[in-house]
Amino acid sequence: MGRRIAIVGAGVSGLAAAWALRGSGAEVILFEKSRGLAGRAASRTRAGVRFDHGANYFKAPPGPVADLVLEQLPSDDLVRIEGEIWTFDAHGALGRGDPALNAEPKWTYRSGISTLGKQLAAAARAEVRRQVRIERLIERGGRWRAADGAGATHGPFDAVLLTAPAPQTRELLARSTLPPVGADALADALGAATYHRQFSVVLAVEGELERPGDFFALVNSDRRHELAWLSFENDKPGRVPAGQTVLIAQLSPAASDALFDAGRKHVAEFAAAAAGRLLRCSLPLRWADVQRWRFAHPGAAADPGALAAAAPPGLFFAGDALAGRGRVAAALETGLEAARQIAAQLDLVTAGGTETQ
Ligand SMILES: Cc1cc2nc3c(=O)[nH]c(=O)nc-3n(C[C@H](O)[C@H](O)[C@H](O)COP(=O)(O)OP(=O)(O)OC[C@H]3O[C@@H](n4cnc5c(N)ncnc54)[C@H](O)[C@@H]3O)c2cc1C
Repeated sequence: MGRRIAIVGAGVSGLAAAWALRGSGAEVILFEKSRGLAGRAASRTRAGVRFDHGANYFKAPPGPVADLVLEQLPSDDLVRIEGEIWTFDAHGALGRGDPALNAEPKWTYRSGISTLGKQLAAAARAEVRRQVRIERLIERGGRWRAADGAGATHGPFDAVLLTAPAPQTRELLARSTLPPVGADALADALGAATYHRQFSVVLAVEGELERPGDFFALVNSDRRHELAWLSFENDKPGRVPAGQTVLIAQLSPAASDALFDAGRKHVAEFAAAAAGRLLRCSLPLRWADVQRWRFAHPGAAADPGALAAAAPPGLFFAGDALAGRGRVAAALETGLEAARQIAAQLDLVTAGGTETQ
């Protein structure tokens, strides 16, 4: 009988897993609570400007991620960001950044970084059920069902892959009906991956700003500034019309916590003032867009070995929680690895030829 696999979350980790399972003969269904694909590798359009308000770019380290992004997926829309990333400290003093890191290519897509998710979904040819939030899992006799927030139950499945940020996955499992053995160990392993919150504020400014250096972006090196990151969407080809500047200002975890419940206008003004001080100019705003990420980046990893050891057969994990750092490439790798584990347990042969090892 055909195998069925549920993937909770259509971020890049879940989509990479679906992609790696394509052609395995298994039916793969992704459940995504939002309307879009790609999760925190997110893009939006406003006033004719396409911008990346979650991940700003990604790297493609040699190996499976480079092969996936540069060789397997379509690359006609892929663009390299040429500018460097410089640093700033608590006092706003600029430094030239790490030459080795700056030499590594930084990628996004002309039509937005979320294109990575869309391309993965198209190449995976898996079904994506959008606006379906999985609330709990029910395991019975080695088969899995997934209950959603609207009262519907999906399944049965032979395997379930959970990809949300660890605190959300932990809550989902706490509501689930699982074999009792290992449940505490799973909760402990997931509990190790704490996330911080972050505002990503898009600032559209009248005119083309002069920069106090030849950089694409500035990153805070001592983690004591109210901004963690400031970059120019203008440096991504095809994004910003002439005559304006679009900045991405990401607040520090501390500033994000302090302002978490503040109004969007206040947060935008705070970000614009901080960005103006850093760039040593005033910022005549045309518009601003404020995104509040509740689970932005993991500060520590959930040990993949501990999760695998505690998980009952059929339950798998992926996502940046397993990497311990908020990086698109790392999240992709966890999805590819989860697909390998699922293929091994279900005895599937995947499109890449990898089977059970
Ligand atoms: C502001 C910001 C800036 C960043 N900058 C960079 C950067 O420049 N470079 C870089 O490499 N990385 C960056 N990152 C990190 C990068 O975006 C993430 O590490 C990566 O996208 C995580 O992918 P994921 O698949 O693990 O998780 P996610 O993208 O979070 O995907 C999980 C998906 O699961 C869905 N979901 C959750 N719960 C449920 C449920 N119960 N039912 C159904 N669906 C559910 C979510 O809606 C989401 O789509 C940044 C992140 C943020 C927030």
